[in-house]
Amino acid sequence: MFDEGDLVAVRSTQPLDRTLDYRAPQGGCVLGDFVEVPLGPRKVPGVIWGPGLGDFDRSKIRSVIRVLDVAPMRDEMRAFLTKAADYTLTPMPAMLRLAMRAPGLGDPPSMRKIYRRGTGEPERMTEARRRVLDALESYGGLAFTLKELAEMAGVTASVVKGLVKHGAVREEDSPRDLPFPVMDPARPGKPLTEDQATAAAVLREHLRSRKYGTTLLKGVTGSGKTEVYLEAVAECLTLGRQALVLLPEIALTAEFLTRVEARFGAKPAEWHSGATMTERRRIWRMVGQGGAQLVVGARSALFLPFRDLGLIIVDEEHDTSYKQEDGVLYNARDMAVLRAAMAGARVVLASATPSLESWANAEAGKYDRLDLTARFGDAVLPEMRAIDMRAEKLDPGTWISPTLRGAVRARMEAGEQALLFLNRRGYAPVTICRACGYQFACDHCDARMVEHRFQKRLMCHQCGETKPMPEACPSCGVEGKLSPVGPGIERLAEETAALFPEARIAVLSSDLFASARALKEKIVEIGAGGADIIIGTQLVAKGHNFPKLTLVGVIDADLGLQGSDLRAAERTFQLMRQVAGRAGRAERPGLALLQTFQPEHPVIRAILAGDEEGFWRAEAAERQAAGVPPYGRMAGIILSGTDAAAVFDLGTVLARNDGALRAIGAQVFGPAAAPIARIRGRHRVRLLVKAAKGAPLQGALARWLAPLRLKGDLRLSVDIDPQSFL
Ligand code: ADP
Ligand code: ZN
Repeated sequence: MFDEGDLVAVRSTQPLDRTLDYRAPQGGCVLGDFVEVPLGPRKVPGVIWGPGLGDFDRSKIRSVIRVLDVAPMRDEMRAFLTKAADYTLTPMPAMLRLAMRAPGLGDPPSMRKIYRRGTGEPERMTEARRRVLDALESYGGLAFTLKELAEMAGVTASVVKGLVKHGAVREEDSPRDLPFPVMDPARPGKPLTEDQATAAAVLREHLRSRKYGTTLLKGVTGSGKTEVYLEAVAECLTLGRQALVLLPEIALTAEFLTRVEARFGAKPAEWHSGATMTERRRIWRMVGQGGAQLVVGARSALFLPFRDLGLIIVDEEHDTSYKQEDGVLYNARDMAVLRAAMAGARVVLASATPSLESWANAEAGKYDRLDLTARFGDAVLPEMRAIDMRAEKLDPGTWISPTLRGAVRARMEAGEQALLFLNRRGYAPVTICRACGYQFACDHCDARMVEHRFQKRLMCHQCGETKPMPEACPSCGVEGKLSPVGPGIERLAEETAALFPEARIAVLSSDLFASARALKEKIVEIGAGGADIIIGTQLVAKGHNFPKLTLVGVIDADLGLQGSDLRAAERTFQLMRQVAGRAGRAERPGLALLQTFQPEHPVIRAILAGDEEGFWRAEAAERQAAGVPPYGRMAGIILSGTDAAAVFDLGTVLARNDGALRAIGAQVFGPAAAPIARIRGRHRVRLLVKAAKGAPLQGALARWLAPLRLKGDLRLSVDIDPQSFL
């Protein structure tokens, strides 16, 4: 507790590399209080970080303007932010901004007007007035907002206001930030199978320890991982602690929320970028006050101010979307573990195809591991077969082999669904002018423009820039010679429609849906049988339940193997198994067919054989030999700027002055053009730093980069444990 006038150190969200001293305001303040402080001519938000350092001219120290009316930041959150900042080499202000993403953080709880039936009667009863009173009476004592009530009665707001004057309708103030409905963890869940019950019992036991620990819950798709970890959630809620479930895609949440509601009798709080400001504000406050027991959300939910966090579930923990690739570069899986360690919470990492990192941590005994080996009920794992494309006859410009075609036809005849998977958005990856050889390229990025024929536009997948698809080649002016090369999802849809004119075809690709809601609705519709053939990008690989789906055809199983990235094998393995896992989840057995030109490739063979442990061991051995994560440490440094030479020079200077790195035995590679050498007009150069497993990499990086002064529009970002090792 600091009394009025005491010196306090305040961390603000402004880009300063230290705390600033202020005087505690009238009424004092406590450690962690969210405050508003003067900074030059401005007012900025901040947090009381500790006692003042007293290294400023005391007579010039200004006072904290006010303490915001929210619960102070807990010690564990400050510790988490500090460690996370150190780990990711992120400046504290940027870290703090993640923890203060609450709209209207300091505002008093906002109120709104609600309306219910009053005791009075209007002097004159009109038809419109009658409708309002009827609406209120038909819902008993319930109150409504003005908008709701007017809509229900089919009248204008002024009719309601008139009734308020006569006392026939009562107007009241009600706080907006209401607690979330209470969940009942004692409600019985589905009866568990023996395997599931054993795993659930272990998780429940872990939770009762109230100590940090991480469990890898590995289970084939459809084995009931969700059922099992909901038991852990139940235990957590029973203990009176809060739980957080991270999901990689909002599209997945609809089904999940329904399951939670069925299990606990109420919907959880839903935190993601698509939520309204009002909703986010409500969640932020309620999480801090304990008025939200369970939060389901995107990775940024890790920064919510939980009052007593007992459990974090990271569903589909291998998913690459957990890696934030903008702003603060962090992997939500690793941050979840750190957050839990600070909070004394348990972590459950759930996946059918864990990341090599988590697998290795379990092997090393750092994580517990639980396995669910059988699918629930009579569902069996899909059979996997290769289609050797060298032996198939295809017309030019088509990609569905006769073998795959036959298999799809058989499914149509049986009234079942088929999924064709191709991880390429748009119509074709390349559009070329057959008269002059011209290819469309983005003006701002080192990337091609991809034709999106459904929208009749060209799009850059790096920066999102679009422009209309022209008739004539912009280079030679010849019309009608622009031709697609290679398949994209839209072109595949066209081919499918021509082969199966009677089939209802659904195309699932992120850019074909205006909103997450529209996508969710489509997924529900497909699940209910609203399509015969589904054509999808990796969007469909993730956890959706399509009970009638019995065939998965992978158009190009070799696609992910072409890069020289060391993670390519792991990615392909995970993706193929995830996609195949969509088939045959209910009572009908599934089949997955992989079109490949290299059926003998070790990764393809491991996928077909379903030999996961074998695949991992081989992968682990390769990574070990190369000294890359998780058997060595790595950091990617991306330098960018509009002047290509300046960016490259900076890289050269950094690479030369590598004393701090050499001191810990680390090596720096580069500078080299980044995998995408230009994005949004900025040139990008990359350095890679490699160190041995136990080496204190972050400290060395910090010392290495400390003398650096970035001139002009040069920018530097550090990516610890980069997703790609290129
Ligand atoms: P996973 O998360 O491993 O893919 P889910 O938890 O989604 O698996 O389970 C797959 C399907 O099986 C779901 O429809 C689920 O409701 C059902 N299921 C799993 N376990 C049980 C159980 N013990 N009783 C009833 N249905 C179950
Ligand atoms: Zn671009």
